[in-house]
Amino acid sequence: MSNQTFAEKLKKYADVVIQVGLNLQPGQKLVIRASGAIEDTAPVVRAMTKSAYQAGARFVDVLWADEPLSVIRLENAPDDSFSEGPDYLYQGLEAHVANGDASLSILASNPDALTGQDQQKMAQIRKTQSQKLEGYGSYISGMKVNWCGVGAASPGWAAKVFPELSPDVAVSKLWDAIFKFTRLDLDDPVQAWKDHVAKLVERKNYLTRKQYAALHLTGPGTDLTVGLAKNHIFMGGSVNTPDGVSFVPNMPTEEVFTTPDAHQVNGIVSASLPLNFNGMVLENLKFTFKDGVITEFSADSGAEMFAKILDMDPGARRLGEIALVPNNSPISQSGTLFYNTLYDENASNHLAIGRAYATAVEGGVEMNAEEKEAAGINHSLIHIDFMIGSDKMDVNGITADGSIEPVMRAGEWAV
Ligand code: ZN
Ligand code: ZN
Repeated sequence: MSNQTFAEKLKKYADVVIQVGLNLQPGQKLVIRASGAIEDTAPVVRAMTKSAYQAGARFVDVLWADEPLSVIRLENAPDDSFSEGPDYLYQGLEAHVANGDASLSILASNPDALTGQDQQKMAQIRKTQSQKLEGYGSYISGMKVNWCGVGAASPGWAAKVFPELSPDVAVSKLWDAIFKFTRLDLDDPVQAWKDHVAKLVERKNYLTRKQYAALHLTGPGTDLTVGLAKNHIFMGGSVNTPDGVSFVPNMPTEEVFTTPDAHQVNGIVSASLPLNFNGMVLENLKFTFKDGVITEFSADSGAEMFAKILDMDPGARRLGEIALVPNNSPISQSGTLFYNTLYDENASNHLAIGRAYATAVEGGVEMNAEEKEAAGINHSLIHIDFMIGSDKMDVNGITADGSIEPVMRAGEWAV
């Protein structure tokens, strides 16, 4: 792939994302959300847009976010104004997915863009966005339309990942990593994706059939039992919309995941990678769970900010996801911390606090709030993944009758 120009590689990337990730249907409309700085995301947004029209899109709408504008607002807008936002835009986004339009997120954020900004204001912005986008979010987490999240290298992000390199070299190295994890270095990336997704589907179906009552995870600083929701479904690889359009929600993706029973989580767990969140990096994050609730937590940095997140709503202190990723995944093997959940979560076993995927429980999407609560399907405005896996982690499946079966040994699949 090295003898191709960047424009050629970008076109290949866009085609794989549009054709396999989104599986955009002829005649479908598409909304693209770009995060980062406009000058960094613009070439990628244009490549994706072109590929979408070539695949038969009727209309591509682009909603730009711009980090420098966010900083200007945080530093200059009135203190009491951060619960306000562009309502027409939130409504428009929901209208798109309600209409059955596909949704593509391009993630190019600089992990340090908001470093040093007022935590209170940022928490307020986040809460407002989460509330206003709840309708949109329910279409996305309910897998009602085809959607996909992908990365785009930017100078700020690349400098964080490769601080020892010059800016140009860092950006090109980050792009190379993104292209490689998207399997563009292989002769036929589309076929390679189909094969990869088929393997993930086989794995998730096996685990779903097993219906373990709980998973028990052990590793350095971790001894945690995670009860699984009754009739849980392991997800991973591809997902089908109610209309039967098969899409891959994240590129790259290496995980199989399901919904824990938010009342049945007990023990201690330590993050194996720093958690990058809202421009803060939390080092050495540790949680204690009792009957599903985080009763204690600590971090070497960012603990004060994180405490506010945990108090956002009752579900923020409970688990919403457990995901298994073998240590031999390409992202893990790169040995690089990407400061971006899309990449880091596909390097390692992880958990998420906050909102659970109702789709990962049989009949979950049709349940009302009370039934979800009873089934242990957690509800929250947040969903924050943190990495816990390593080559030292073992995972056991505990069956309903209490017998124990190996699922992972030393970070690799044992099944
Ligand atoms: Zn995940
Ligand atoms: Zn997650």
